Amino acid sequence: MAVARKPVVEVRRSQRRRRTVSAYRDGERVVVLIPDQFSRAEESEWVDRMLARLAAREGRFARSDAELLARACRLIGLYLSDHGSVAEPASVRWVTNQNGRWGSCTPADRTIRISHRIQDMPDWVIDYVLLHELAHLIVPSHNATFWSLVARYPKAERARGYLEGVAATAGI
Ligand SMILES: [Zn+2]
Repeated sequence: MAVARKPVVEVRRSQRRRRTVSAYRDGERVVVLIPDQFSRAEESEWVDRMLARLAAREGRFARSDAELLARACRLIGLYLSDHGSVAEPASVRWVTNQNGRWGSCTPADRTIRISHRIQDMPDWVIDYVLLHELAHLIVPSHNATFWSLVARYPKAERARGYLEGVAATAGI
């Protein structure tokens, strides 16, 4: 097992900060900004907490196009395998220009694009968005056949509720 090297941490105290703590990576170092009034114990507690948070965030953003494709292949195997190669996309990519859409599919060239805004969401929500777009390779419109394909995913209903909640909060 690889031992994770603890990064060099630079703690900066700020008199203007009251309670907020933030951290960011600056090359090899991690800079942690804390309120000046924090005790040494609070400082070390928060440094540990922020390092964990930063690692988790960076882990999530490490989601790559390759991982997305692997995820798509898994979903096809689980839910759409009876459609054979019809459900197989030519490409699946993360994109930043979806303008309010979580994902999109172009059946003509069999490409699927997934919004980076869902990168932070739980795996089962990402899987839903992906399965939705994969199902569009089989049925381009939102008709009953399409929804019956999507409904094969056990958390489809829950994921739709999750996304509607996020959209309502964000005013999308
Ligand atoms: Zn759709």
